[in-house]
Amino acid sequence: MSDVAARLASLAERGLQRSTRLVSSAQGPTVTLDGREVTLLCSNNYLGLAEHPAVRAAAAAAAERWGAGAGASRLVSGTMSIHRELERELADFHGTQSCLLFGSGYLANIGVIGALAGRGDVVFSDALNHASIVDGCRLSRADVVVYRHRDIEHLQQCLEQHGGGRHERRLIVTDSVFSMDGDIAPLREIGALAARHDARLLVDEAHAIGALGPGGRGVLAREGLEREAGALLGTLGKALGSYGAYVCGGQELCDYLVNVARPLIFSTAPPPPALAAAAAALRLLRDDPGLVGELHNAAATLRGALAQEGFAVAAGDMHIIPLLVGDERDAVRLCEAALARGVFAQAIRPPTVPQGTSRLRLTAMASHSPRQM
Ligand code: PMP
Repeated sequence: MSDVAARLASLAERGLQRSTRLVSSAQGPTVTLDGREVTLLCSNNYLGLAEHPAVRAAAAAAAERWGAGAGASRLVSGTMSIHRELERELADFHGTQSCLLFGSGYLANIGVIGALAGRGDVVFSDALNHASIVDGCRLSRADVVVYRHRDIEHLQQCLEQHGGGRHERRLIVTDSVFSMDGDIAPLREIGALAARHDARLLVDEAHAIGALGPGGRGVLAREGLEREAGALLGTLGKALGSYGAYVCGGQELCDYLVNVARPLIFSTAPPPPALAAAAAALRLLRDDPGLVGELHNAAATLRGALAQEGFAVAAGDMHIIPLLVGDERDAVRLCEAALARGVFAQAIRPPTVPQGTSRLRLTAMASHSPRQM
């Protein structure tokens, strides 16, 4: 057996083998999965904008006007007016001085963490931060201190233990909404610690943009903390229905990122149709903040229905609903059983979540009807 075959077999033995499933329809509240129509409960297309007619039309018009691709990285010939315009609109949306687009959230985290921390610096990172933050920390070559999930006292201890001039720069990085649990970081307390310990704060709002805060502006905006965070990261591939990501912050930060963020320097600029789609989605969100309420109504209905069926879900209206299973194989079995009844919610297993916490991660969408929920 080749080493690759042996490793694949070992994954399968441990209930950890993965493969892609095939969707052959647009990303709606229902999709055609492996030839069958099923209710989609595991998409980050929270506001249903990926398939919105205005978003599709904007992408099509941009392809006609600007072509399919940007052709080069931002610093070569890839910065087109459509990049600048969307950056201006996103900065205005978040009330920051400046904004910089990246190819994806994964690339943005690697770029911004690597820019704000390097050898001789220290990053404090929540234990359940997204894999792109974990990889950004690793690639940065900074010392990385992982604090217990949402544990402010532990973060404070870590900051105290790793203080005293041993490190040149200090960075705290956290998701605002944690992607696999749907819980929220205590940003007010983290912001206060950052200020007290002279640390910069980077907040990944990937699952909060379009879903939480005034008009879907995220948790920092909801808590009035826009000034506490040195950098806010948002993605275009979730509630904004497209692909790509951005970092918002001061002009100085963005000027610096243009000079040192390697995924921005060495990767092709995001393509015009994707940006036009995101811009159209942003406009829809700005013009109809009621969309965010529709998402939470759908989530509350789903949570209520699950509780009635005896599932252990918290009450409320958070759009991410984890159904904890534990064992990897049991999670896969539950996923298959749900599919057999016309519901698609992918099983989530390690390394996406810690060992022994495999689950179905259900997500509501504004476009789900109460009946579907
Ligand atoms: N940050 C978080 C919190 C995420 O959940 C994700 C994607 N699931 C990313 C970043 C990466 O974003 P993208 O999919 O645009 O690479």
